[in-house]
Amino acid sequence: MMQQYIRLKIQHPDTLVFYRMGDFYELFFEDAEYASRLLDITLTTRGASGGQPIKMAGVPHHALEPYLAKLVKMGKSAVIAEQVGEPGATKGPMERAVSRIVTPGTLTDAALLDERAEAPLLAVQLNRGVLGLVWLNLANGDFRLVETEPEALVSHLERLRPAEALIPESLKLPLLEARVPAIRRLADWQFDAKTAQELLTTHFGTRDLAGFGAEGLNVALSAAAALFEYARSTQRQALAHITTLRVESEGDYLRMDAQTRRNLEISETLRGESSPTLLSLLDLAETSMGSRWLRHCLHHPLASRQACRERHAAVGALLGDAGDGPLSAVAAALRPIADIERIATRIALTSVRPRELSALRVSLAALDEVRAPIMSTDAALLAQTYSDLAPPLDVLQLLTAAITEEPAAMVRDGGVIARGFDAELDELRDIQNNCGEFLIALETRERERTGIANLKVEFNRVHGFYIEVTHANVDKVPEDYRRRQTMKNAERYITPELKTFEDKALSAQERALAREKMLYEDLVARLLPEVPRLQRIAHAVALLDGLNAFAQAAARYDYRAPELVDEPIIEITGGRHPVVERQVDNFISNDTRLAPTRRMLLVTGPNMGGKSTYMRQVALIVLLAHCGAFVPAESARIGPVDAIFTRIGASDDLASGRSTFMVEMTEAAAILNGASEHSLVLMDEIGRGTSTFDGMALAYSIARHLLDKNQSYALFSTHYFELTRLGHDYPECANVHLGAVEHGHSIVFLHAVQDGPASQSYGIEVAALAGIPPAVVRDAKRRLRALENREVAGGPQEDLFASLPEPEPAQVSHPALSALTDLDPDSMTPREAMEALYALKKQLDKH
Ligand code: ADP
Repeated sequence: MMQQYIRLKIQHPDTLVFYRMGDFYELFFEDAEYASRLLDITLTTRGASGGQPIKMAGVPHHALEPYLAKLVKMGKSAVIAEQVGEPGATKGPMERAVSRIVTPGTLTDAALLDERAEAPLLAVQLNRGVLGLVWLNLANGDFRLVETEPEALVSHLERLRPAEALIPESLKLPLLEARVPAIRRLADWQFDAKTAQELLTTHFGTRDLAGFGAEGLNVALSAAAALFEYARSTQRQALAHITTLRVESEGDYLRMDAQTRRNLEISETLRGESSPTLLSLLDLAETSMGSRWLRHCLHHPLASRQACRERHAAVGALLGDAGDGPLSAVAAALRPIADIERIATRIALTSVRPRELSALRVSLAALDEVRAPIMSTDAALLAQTYSDLAPPLDVLQLLTAAITEEPAAMVRDGGVIARGFDAELDELRDIQNNCGEFLIALETRERERTGIANLKVEFNRVHGFYIEVTHANVDKVPEDYRRRQTMKNAERYITPELKTFEDKALSAQERALAREKMLYEDLVARLLPEVPRLQRIAHAVALLDGLNAFAQAAARYDYRAPELVDEPIIEITGGRHPVVERQVDNFISNDTRLAPTRRMLLVTGPNMGGKSTYMRQVALIVLLAHCGAFVPAESARIGPVDAIFTRIGASDDLASGRSTFMVEMTEAAAILNGASEHSLVLMDEIGRGTSTFDGMALAYSIARHLLDKNQSYALFSTHYFELTRLGHDYPECANVHLGAVEHGHSIVFLHAVQDGPASQSYGIEVAALAGIPPAVVRDAKRRLRALENREVAGGPQEDLFASLPEPEPAQVSHPALSALTDLDPDSMTPREAMEALYALKKQLDKH
């Protein structure tokens, strides 16, 4: 048996092999040691190999899935070797064969997958400055490729979120390795464009790949060869649900680089949490297909304005003019719909379970209800969806006829195929069902014949059928009884009649199970050609659910339809930040106007004044409009936009070993090199990470470059007051500020955007709010005054940190006075103030 194991293990040296032995999956040698640490399972030993005890660790067979889930979460893979053939059919150990290979990027099992997110498998090749990316979502058969420039890698990773990546052995891609949980290096020769041509044309049954637009994309195709082979080997079969290859072009979506996606907190906060984000706010979908569509949609704003407008029209129709649209009816009808997309995949992989098929039946039967509310609609997209959601009646009939109302979990347990589907199966089942009647009749008969009143006719799995007679009555047992077994106080017998019946019943049961299995496999094979149709239905459900979520968000949060216009303009009235507005009590909405004559807004104002919120809300409104969603604003008119860039906040990119300042400048460089006059650029406090003069000079020059060269729509916030001069030098640069007013010793933020530069930065007041000790605040205030005086007097700036003369010590002549000096009335409660007053009075009285 160990030889057999080792033969298997040699083929999978880098992957944990789970080797089925009876009721357990066992791991041996280093695998056992490693798995015992990873999975927290007991390490034991058994037998010996080369004089050493063999290390072994195992998991019970019924508990395999949770352990696999744990492994793939850690980015690990597993090979499952099952027993094949009948026990005892051959001499020696039972044969074992690899039944499946589970890797993080090739999951299709509902138990292992996150139902709301996708976990695609990615393959990457880099050749002569061209980056080829291919990804496959095995769970739904979505197979795509793109060729692009190497710098775009991280942005693609950010939107695709691959669970596993394949790269050629000789290729070093540290950025990829830092971001993808599981990396698999394959031999360079496996990345071969010609092999891909052959593999893919055979798979799709086409002459070439021109029909997919993939001809000549050799870098990406070479990665496709590796990916396709790998995916196939993990599933051990042809991948029938992959019906097409899509070539993405850079122009399909608004461009957003990796940091923009992060900064806008689309599906993950800057801290890496899933909420509150744009997605967590808008994910009001009823089905997991809808949730996945939303996630994809928010990361893929459409460049085609016509496509966006169609979505807006659909959302509008769902919402209804007077809020009386069918959105609630659609939501209610979608609720019982199962994950048709993933079930279709499992049909294609012939691994679909009976209960998934019964869920599919329920879902297909409910499609008419889902589409009824959108029957009479003007929106073209909904009309198309309506026709895509036509229930496939033949499939539905087949499923209804074939699968029982509530099938067992596993085919091997029987009870899956419906009565009336197959005459032979029904007959075999009847034999079993009649069994009970037969036994009762026999019992009555034998009691009469023998005169033994407590004689029993029974059945158990181990011993089959028997007649049980207590010891007290054995002398009444007739001739034809054969003893089967002796119990403590009874004897068990069999008669020729019972034996004949037993043979018939047991073989009927076995044959029924075998027949059911055969029928089930046959059913799955008949469903196989329907997979593309089911996929189309799944897409229609996802789209309807996603658009309906947009409509619900619009109703719930009061969003309005944006208008995509042809003139170069971004004009928002009453704009809000969708996420922040849900978190504060009283969100102040703000207008924004950007146009060729007003291309840059220079945003100043105190820290915490709302600058970042304001800038991001503009980007989010533009993004949402291009996803086809309604937007958090009273109105929004948006001209052509080709990309969104952000440079917000400082964070060290430790993964790639760059300091904060380096990150900041790299991001700025990407913007200056990539932004066009149709791009929306957000620059938040650029130049912070270096000395004041450096930073200010850089910020100034960057702003000028944006104005002169890129000519993008830009929102540029800065704490360098000097930059506000740009507003005077450039007519297309406007100063706006977020206001604040001093209130006593404190500061109140107005959060309202006003024209003109800020008059004051209120840095020290904000520091006080943050809890900087009062003494430090007082000191800072003195220094600020001194600096300002010096500036007015034209004094040199180098004196910034020269020691300031201490203020004249207060002439304290009385202890009460000195106590009074130490008091800070602003930080006292009324009661503390009263108490302090009494204490002072007491001190005065004492002296
Ligand atoms: P800044 O970038 O100027 O430092 P932020 O944009 O980070 O300021 O905003 C600070 C906080 O102010 C936000 O977390 C939010 O609580 C609040 N805030 C921002 N904008 C608004 C607004 N328009 N209405 C109400 N509260 C706001």
